[in-house]
This record gives sequence, structure tokens and C-alpha cells, in this order.
Amino acid sequence: MKYLETSTGKWEVVIGLEVHAQVISNAKLFSAASTKFGAAPNENVSFVDAAFPGVLPVINSFCIDQAIKTGLGVNGTVNLVSHFDRKNYFYADLPQGYQISQYKHPLISGGYVEIEDENGEARKIRLERIHVEQDAGKSIHDQSPTKSYIDLNRAGVALMEIVTMPDIRSAEETAAFIKKLRSILRYLKTCDGNMDEGSMRADVNVSIHRPGTEYGTRAEIKNVNSIKFIVAAIGFEVDRQIEILESGGVVNQETRLFDPSNGRTILMRSKEDAQDYRYFPEPDLPPLVVQQSRIDKIRKTIPELPDAKTSRLQQEFGLPHYDASLIASEMEIADYYEAALAHLPIIDSETAKILANWMLGELFSLLNKDGKNICQSNVSPQSLAELITLIKTNVISGKIAKDVLKIMWDSKKSASVIVKEKGLQQITSSDDIEKCLRSVLAEYPDKVAEYKNGKEKLFGFFVGQAMKKTQGKANPQLLNDILKKLFNED
Ligand code: ADP
Ligand code: MG
Repeated sequence: MKYLETSTGKWEVVIGLEVHAQVISNAKLFSAASTKFGAAPNENVSFVDAAFPGVLPVINSFCIDQAIKTGLGVNGTVNLVSHFDRKNYFYADLPQGYQISQYKHPLISGGYVEIEDENGEARKIRLERIHVEQDAGKSIHDQSPTKSYIDLNRAGVALMEIVTMPDIRSAEETAAFIKKLRSILRYLKTCDGNMDEGSMRADVNVSIHRPGTEYGTRAEIKNVNSIKFIVAAIGFEVDRQIEILESGGVVNQETRLFDPSNGRTILMRSKEDAQDYRYFPEPDLPPLVVQQSRIDKIRKTIPELPDAKTSRLQQEFGLPHYDASLIASEMEIADYYEAALAHLPIIDSETAKILANWMLGELFSLLNKDGKNICQSNVSPQSLAELITLIKTNVISGKIAKDVLKIMWDSKKSASVIVKEKGLQQITSSDDIEKCLRSVLAEYPDKVAEYKNGKEKLFGFFVGQAMKKTQGKANPQLLNDILKKLFNED
């Protein structure tokens, strides 16, 4: 385990997260209003969301299915009976005056998400619970100098609150956890994980203590909505707490806010004025009872998840762990990869690795350049497989293949058509290559003499000149072999 070392000794950082993940669903948790992102303000608001008197919540069973699926996907236990409670507080964007949440009896208990620690060792971050609740609306304070605006589109949207045990030990592990969780949620299609649209955000609990002693008092940083900000907030918070403790002070349990403009956390409220939410059972909803058969049915819909896919890609195709986990991090990337693989004539570990290199390297840089994701690629899996086949069968060199891929990207033509049209086929005739090399050697008699006098570096120079003459089309292996042969002759 990694400790922070200062002049006074070692500190251990302890982190626990409460991740709010918006459930993918067309309708809200207790109303039929749409959840579509980007609608005009207050366009998606029903009487229930606006808390008109006399309205009653009706549970959206699809949202519950989604939360059950999530629980199963993170190895949790689905509780056959769970309860909804009212969490009471006043805020302008919460017209009900309370949030319907789950308190003592959540839908999901336990579970874990596996991450890699800094040594590449697998580590389980245990989950305490996942409960289902409604989101609040949004207050907008920056559009008018004198008014605040309220948008209730988000009011009543289903959230899963995913609470970890305090098992995380660094900002890096926190980032790894969020990435892995997000990847699992996306595989499950239960949350889109888009932090910049607010559909995933985290409360970050941070404390420090001396190794081997009890955990310290935590500060909770509310509602951080990007991995970069989470890492920065933890960095600032750890430094702040170390400074307090080392100068003889005590860390107060408090809620803080991260300010992205200066990378600092600021006090929002201290424990003394912590909110009393006056939780009580939601009288308008009966206990949520889930049949085992419903859970079994949902379990069957869970796809192969990233960890299992990573292991299989390693075992089945001999890919290194790094490549396999990168490919498995998104289902669409893995699907692309496996589709391309299926179009290759031979699938051995060497070809699998070459394909991984080309996809993760060249193809990804073309995607990035155009701001596209893998599903929007101009080059299909089949076309990329064709390009790899041309390389593997020595029709073109790897170097030329890079240019071919760029042309494929821009023109959407196939690799073989481009190779034919532009005459890029490799020169594999020994006679032609020898002829070319002889002319190079004839052009540079001085350099030939130097080489023969022991300046072996010049070998590469001759190769380069011959490549230039053939526009890079000479088969590199043959070129090397023949040049050696020519020097050995005299
Ligand atoms: P609350 O409901 O008041 O926020 P919980 O006990 O449920 O408090 O804890 C909330 C989160 O705080 C959990 O993610 C948990 O892992 C984390 N946590 C608890 N104790 C600590 C600690 N000493 N340091 C850091 N995180 C902690
Ligand atoms: Mg909390």
C-alpha cells in the first residue's frame, strides 16, 4: 500500500464515494414525463414532478429493472423487499419539499468493483449499497443579475446512488474506480456515464490517518462532475488535512465544494449545522417487493462485462493485459475489434496484436482527429482487417499501410483498391531490388569505400536511398538481405 511520507511520518489516504448515476430510461422514476437531455427548460415536467397537490407517485418498473441489473453487474445482492423514504429539505428546485429516496432498506446491498492498484494488482473496492431515488430540479443563478431560474426537467429523474466502502487509497485509484464503474454501467446500458451532461457525478469523502490507527475524520466534497476535478479535489483536500493535523489542529467533519476555477475546496457547511433530513417512510408507496424470477430474468440479459472480456481476449488471442483491457474498456471498441478479427484469414496471437496496434494506434488517432467514436469510424472492421491482411501477406509494407489507411479514411475506398490505383504494391522481385541497390552503390562510391573501411552505420543510408528510389515500396527484408549479399560478394 502506498503511503504519503512527510517530515512527521507516514499518512494513509482513505476515500469513499457516493456516485450518483442517472438511470437510462425514457420516463422518470415516478412520472411518465420524458427524460430527454437538452430539452427546453421545463418542457419535461408532469404534475407529479411539479408536485401539484393531490398527485401520487407511480413507480416506473423499468427504472427498478435497470437498478437491479446494475446491482447484479457489480456483484451485489438484490434485496427482495426494499423501502422508499422521504428525505425532507427545502430548496427552490425541489417543489415537493422532499426527495423520495431509500434510506435504511436499499434495493441493492454489497457488491464490488475491481480496479488495478499502482502495481497492476487487482483490488476489490467494496460497495456498501445502491439505492434508488429521484433527482431534484436545477437552479440557474448565472443568467440574470437579479433572478434565479428553475428548470424542473431533471426533477424526478431516476438516480442510482452507488455508495462505496472507504476502500479507496489514492486519487489515482479513485479515477480508476470511476472509469471502471462507468465502463460497467455503459456495458449494462443502465447509465450513460456522461459526466459533462451531469448524468454521473460523485460526492467524494476524504480523510487521512497514520497507518495502523483508526480512520480519520472525513470531509465530504459534494457533487464533483469530472474525473479531472475529482483528482484535483482529493489532492487539495489531502494537503489541507495534512497541514491541519501536522500543525496540531483537528479536521472537522464537514461538507465542502470544489471550485474548478482555482482547484481548491471551500467550506459549504460543518457538521454542527448538518441537515436533519427527518427521514420517514414514504406513505404514498408500498414496500418495493421484487420476485426472484424477475431477478433471474434480468440476470440473463447481462452481457460479458469488461473484466471477463479482458481475460478472454488475453486467453483466446494471447493479447497483453494492457491491450486487452483497453479494448474491453468499451463494448463498442471490443465489438469492432472482434468483428475485424473475424475477417482475418489467420487469427494467431501475432495477428491479434498487429490488429490491436493498428486499431488502438493509427485508427484511434484518425478518430480523435475528427472527434469521432468507434461507431462513427470511416473505416469498417472489415476494411481494417483487409489492410492488415495486405501487410501480413507482404503486399504492402507497414509504412505504406499508414498512408493507405489515411486515404481509406478520407476516401472510404478499400485498401486493395487504393493499393491498385496508386501502384503501392511492394516490390518483391529480387532482381528489381538488386538492380536498384546496384545503382545506389554506383552513385555513392565514396560512401561505399567508407562502409568497407568499417563505418557500418552507412548500411542504413544505402537502405534509405534504395527505399527513396522505390517510393518506399521495396520489401524491407529482401532489401536488407540483398544489400548484405552484395557487400559479401566483393
Ligand atoms: P453519510 O450517509 O453521512 O454520508 P456514510 O457512513 O454512509 O455517511 O458514508 C458515506 C461515504 O463516506 C461512504 O462512501 C464511505 O465509504 C465514506 N467514508 C466513511 N468513513 C470514511 C472515512 N473515515 N474516510 C473517508 N471516507 C469515509
Ligand atoms: Mg453522504
